[in-house]
Amino acid sequence: MTTEHAGATINAWEVAQHQFDLAADRLGLDDAIRQVLREPRRELTVHFPVSMDDGTVRVFTGYRVQHNLGRGPAKGGIRYHQDVTRDEVKALAMWMSWKCAVVGIPYGGGKGGVIVDPKQLSLKELEALTRRFTTEIELLIGPERDIPAPDVNTNAQTMAWMMDTYSMHVGYTVPGVVTGKPIALGGSEGRHEATARGAVFTIVESARHLGMDLTRATVSVQGFGNAGSIAARLIRDEGATVVAVSDSTGGIHAPGGLDIDRVIQWKQEHGTVQGFPGAADISGMAVLEVECDILIPAALENQITARNAANIKARIVAEAANGPTTPEADEILHAKGVFLIPDILCNAGGVTVSYFEWVQALNRDHWDEAMVNQKLRGIMVKAFAEVLAMSLREEASMRTGAYLLAVQRVADAMSVRGLYP
Ligand code: NAD
Repeated sequence: MTTEHAGATINAWEVAQHQFDLAADRLGLDDAIRQVLREPRRELTVHFPVSMDDGTVRVFTGYRVQHNLGRGPAKGGIRYHQDVTRDEVKALAMWMSWKCAVVGIPYGGGKGGVIVDPKQLSLKELEALTRRFTTEIELLIGPERDIPAPDVNTNAQTMAWMMDTYSMHVGYTVPGVVTGKPIALGGSEGRHEATARGAVFTIVESARHLGMDLTRATVSVQGFGNAGSIAARLIRDEGATVVAVSDSTGGIHAPGGLDIDRVIQWKQEHGTVQGFPGAADISGMAVLEVECDILIPAALENQITARNAANIKARIVAEAANGPTTPEADEILHAKGVFLIPDILCNAGGVTVSYFEWVQALNRDHWDEAMVNQKLRGIMVKAFAEVLAMSLREEASMRTGAYLLAVQRVADAMSVRGLYP
């Protein structure tokens, strides 16, 4: 997504490359490896027709990008959104390379997207779009090559259609080609909650590090989909009070606290969080600036910018979304002493349980939820400790710490593999 802000256009790919450059400079990265990692390995653009319910045919544009395959097959979600761009998908693919390296799972980075507002399509049209898009990107995907997962506006049903389409084409069932599938199809227990659960594990660790008592903490959440609404519920379960939430229609604020289960129900019934009884309607952007101890951006990129960063009151910013903070805003938050848990660490719970799902698929195994959550906790707590140690050692932000760790791990893998031919 390219975001207009105060007259300036923020391009996610430029942000991603800038973040990489900072880490590469600091690591003194070998020039050849730096050149390779600065660009995606493969970018596929597809234009494909879909039969609509009214008998017309519409041509859609989609992308699949593989950033790096040094540590394993590409892994990354598929996004359906009207503002998807190739640059956005490239940025998200690069972030996936770093994310998988931060948590130490054996994947490279990939991402996909289709330019579509799925809310304008019927279920039948969405299925047709998904099956044809899957067919078009079959050049790249496969259980050993590139494994898609859900992202914004895609879900377990989307993954079931993708898995079925791929399986029909090869002639046998291939559960390992996507993750985030329904449980009935080999989906992992705990995958639906995994991104939010992982984010909350990192918040609990941050609070411990900062000496913050979560039972007295207030929380604001931007975005009320898979990541945001479940993070709101899980942080409430830790004893914190959620005072504001938002979705694409706007926000709500109740300084005394929101009943999250009722807000989830309200959104299901009304299609929006706004109008929730006992809370004041506020703008979507105002949710970022309310009085709170913990802010969880869980919507889209470029939400915290040079324009609003100074107004953020939270002590902890937990990036459940990918790329919610621009580099300028990063510096402002760091200077203010905000403890920011970077996206490539904070939301890595999703890809971690996707990895568990893939392992279960390849082994024809099924783990119970307690085992999934326990393994997820182990990986998130370890990754948090490693990033914190790096940031303290380097006297740098948590983002810089995470990047130094991740980029070095990817560079090491490439270096020992050597240059082919
Ligand atoms: P989703 O489609 O389930 O939810 C997105 C939510 O954001 C919706 O509630 C939507 O209304 C809201 N939203 C959109 N624009 C908004 C705006 N301008 N202001 C406030 N809210 C807005 O998507 P999701 O899976 O929850 O993804 C959210 C973020 O988390 C994305 O950045 C995604 O890349 C990231 N993420 C998701 C996963 C996952 O497993 N689902 C994993 C890692 C990262």
